[in-house]
Amino acid sequence: MWDFSTDPEFQAKLDWADTFVREECETLDLVFPDGGAPYDVRNKVSRAVIAPLREKVKEQRLWACHLGPDLGGPGYGQLKLGLLNEVLGRSHWAPTVFGTAAPDTGNAEILAMFGTQEQKDRYLQPLLDGDIVSAFSMTEPHAGADPKEFTCRARQDGDSWVIDGEKWFTSNARYASFLIVMAVTDDEAGPHQRMSMFIVPAETPGVEIVRNVATFVESREDEGTHAYVRYTGVRVPADHMLGGPGEGFKVAQARLGGGRIHHAMRTVGKCHRIFDMMTERAVSRTTQGSTLAQKQSVQTMLAESWIELQQLRLLVLHTAWTIDTQPHGAARTGIAMCKVQMAKVLHDILQRAVHLHGSLGTTRETPLAGWWSSAPHIGLVDGPTEVHRTTIAKGVLRGQQPAAGLFPSEHVPTRLAAAREHHAAALAAAGVDL
Ligand SMILES: Cc1cc2nc3c(=O)[nH]c(=O)nc-3n(C[C@H](O)[C@H](O)[C@H](O)COP(=O)(O)OP(=O)(O)OC[C@H]3O[C@@H](n4cnc5c(N)ncnc54)[C@H](O)[C@@H]3O)c2cc1C
Repeated sequence: MWDFSTDPEFQAKLDWADTFVREECETLDLVFPDGGAPYDVRNKVSRAVIAPLREKVKEQRLWACHLGPDLGGPGYGQLKLGLLNEVLGRSHWAPTVFGTAAPDTGNAEILAMFGTQEQKDRYLQPLLDGDIVSAFSMTEPHAGADPKEFTCRARQDGDSWVIDGEKWFTSNARYASFLIVMAVTDDEAGPHQRMSMFIVPAETPGVEIVRNVATFVESREDEGTHAYVRYTGVRVPADHMLGGPGEGFKVAQARLGGGRIHHAMRTVGKCHRIFDMMTERAVSRTTQGSTLAQKQSVQTMLAESWIELQQLRLLVLHTAWTIDTQPHGAARTGIAMCKVQMAKVLHDILQRAVHLHGSLGTTRETPLAGWWSSAPHIGLVDGPTEVHRTTIAKGVLRGQQPAAGLFPSEHVPTRLAAAREHHAAALAAAGVDL
């Protein structure tokens, strides 16, 4: 059965969230504009402002909607989460106000899936409560897209593990209470069994932020949110391994699938906001005797953008539905498709929106400039587009057999001969002489 409707009770929640995000969260984006601001739990002012907002979200049962009831979330499933994340994607602050901000969502998921009870009590619970933030430290300065190249090491020493190495682009390390670090623990093991995952409290001696690397969006060097981190003789107790020895790759994969689809859900919302800006501009600006909306080239821009946005939205929601209803792993190709397509659609719609706003579109007087500067992020974060295209290709090739003969199975002369044979009796009865 196919059904594209939202149940009225949940639609009412979405309507509430839509108004709330526009009124409360988009305004936070203006008052606290720094990219890292939502994660800065030490900023007493922003925390005081968001505390009552979070309470309102909890009253609506919309807090931490990525989690099931066992972890304090409502357990709506991925499809409903997708619809909600579309709303939250309008605002940089909204995921923090609703308890669904990356990378904490993914870190919470792996703590829930692989953590011991002690690890959950100490690290997961305050994360779920929104009292602390965390970081995921996997990419290295010399290797990102291929984890098999990682060299950061952990060696066992008595009851401890000692970590040495460097990590690159560890988002929010500067605000994090703990970092989840992937390190090689067995050089001899197979490529996917060489690494393990560790929980490292941020204050552990030997954890050093070399630089808070500034991206296009951040103007001052060392004021960025993605850290270059050095681990020198960092000693953690043996019970700080997350998952078993050699399970680092498995733990990372478990976290990245969810992270990717959640980014895609929010990107749909961001694209929608950008599209709304385009349509408003089109009916507001007059040139050469008519509005922009009446120019055929502008209509083409709007039509293309709307088609691409709706296609992306359906792809994301269908993938979310697949996660909810099909066996584990069934959504793998879909998630990779969302990952590739969201980067393209965001880029293309943004480019048109900036162009349609003329000189104003290039300034910092609309949100477009900030979004444009960070648009390349989405094609890299959680793995570059090319890697996901490979996943898609593997998915669609799975089970495909080579052609049985010399020619492809759709070869017309071969098929025609077979078809004539198939219908020979009937054709002969009808007096057709082949
Ligand atoms: C905003 C942002 C936040 C991030 N946050 C985190 C974080 O919190 N923790 C963390 O560990 N990492 C984080 N990352 C890092 C991210 O995971 C890496 O950027 C990504 O995996 C790519 O690695 P790389 O940057 O080293 O690029 P590289 O691996 O050097 O790849 C560069 C380019 O090479 C090409 N390429 C690479 N592999 C292939 C291939 N197999 N086939 C064809 N072409 C290929 C692609 O064009 C690719 O873009 C973040 C990145 C961004 C942009």
